[in-house]
Amino acid sequence: MNAIVPSEEVAARVVELRRAIHRHPELGLEEFETQALIERELDALGIEHRRIAGTGVTGAIRGAKPGRVVGLRADMDALPIGERSGELFASEVAGKMHACGHDAHTAMLLGAARVLQRMRADLAGTVVLLFQPAEEGPGGAERMIAEGALDEPPVAAVAMLHVDPRLPTGSIGITPGPVNASADEFAVEIEGRGGHGAYPHTAADAIPAAAAAILALQNIAARETDPLASVVVTVGTIAGGYRNNVIADRVKMTGTFRAHDPEIRAALEPRARRILDGVAAAYGVRASLDVTYGYPPVVNDVTLAESFARYMKARGTLHVERPAPTMGAEDFAYFAQRVPGLHVRLGIRSEKVGSVHSGHSPLFRVDEEALPAGVETLVAFAVGVGSGQVELVARPSP
Ligand SMILES: [Zn+2]
Ligand SMILES: [Zn+2]
Repeated sequence: MNAIVPSEEVAARVVELRRAIHRHPELGLEEFETQALIERELDALGIEHRRIAGTGVTGAIRGAKPGRVVGLRADMDALPIGERSGELFASEVAGKMHACGHDAHTAMLLGAARVLQRMRADLAGTVVLLFQPAEEGPGGAERMIAEGALDEPPVAAVAMLHVDPRLPTGSIGITPGPVNASADEFAVEIEGRGGHGAYPHTAADAIPAAAAAILALQNIAARETDPLASVVVTVGTIAGGYRNNVIADRVKMTGTFRAHDPEIRAALEPRARRILDGVAAAYGVRASLDVTYGYPPVVNDVTLAESFARYMKARGTLHVERPAPTMGAEDFAYFAQRVPGLHVRLGIRSEKVGSVHSGHSPLFRVDEEALPAGVETLVAFAVGVGSGQVELVARPSP
């Protein structure tokens, strides 16, 4: 089982790969260099692979012993952020940055592939490598699934890592149930009747109607949802009006709905519509609502999460925590809808190297000391689930 812990050589290679990807960040569906780097590395390791979802890659490592098929997923894309981390290997592309750690995720999966390929003679089952584009948008998971990423061979369970600056280096976070929220966008348009600012009684002012709508929408979270459940209603933009003495005929707003529970998520649109219709009637204006549905919540399979947490605790090499869920979103949700899935958080917090900023910050840094722990976690998942030491309740196909 010591083979699971990555050697110095593997750890050094992971750092090298991570820095190479970090220097050349690419946005969703433009990950051409990153894709080529993954392909070169898999070729060098003698691992079969193919392109998928445009700029993604999937590969397979077939163990010599019978066992389950285990999926390991890493996202590949960067963000449209100008890097100010101060790292020596900072982004060389203006306005683009790996500020969410996907460079580290891809490098760690390549490290795990290196370890697993060498263990093939002793490995039970098959490991499917899932290098996914466009997690930050427009999404790559659904397309990979549509192109058969989980079908040939049929994957029994899938795991991913995400770096997390809330947890210290040397720890991992495994939480059963929902760990990320759904993320749906909404757009509201209030339509009144314009006029002269001095004669409000001749117009239907969209501005106070919008103000009332924003406050009333907060009732969804404050008064209509169980305080122990999780929901977010955020109005993020508002635009309307022409000048100080003109009554605005229309106001446009956009925002995000977030929830962990699919039922609460489904109720958000009708609730918002009811509130907007009521406000519109009260203010003598019209209100429209348009919702664009995004990623569903990530729900960790309870049996898999509990069993893998026990397995990792028994190994005793890493500190296993159970962090609180977040209202962030992840398109790994689609993989976890299809087969039992596990989103594992990898602790990277280190004051020493400034790995303290949240993801999507231009100051974001990843403590590279944490990367071997990530490789170890991925390899342990593949070995534990593949061999049957980690329990899995078969899920009826949808
Ligand atoms: Zn992100
Ligand atoms: Zn991310």
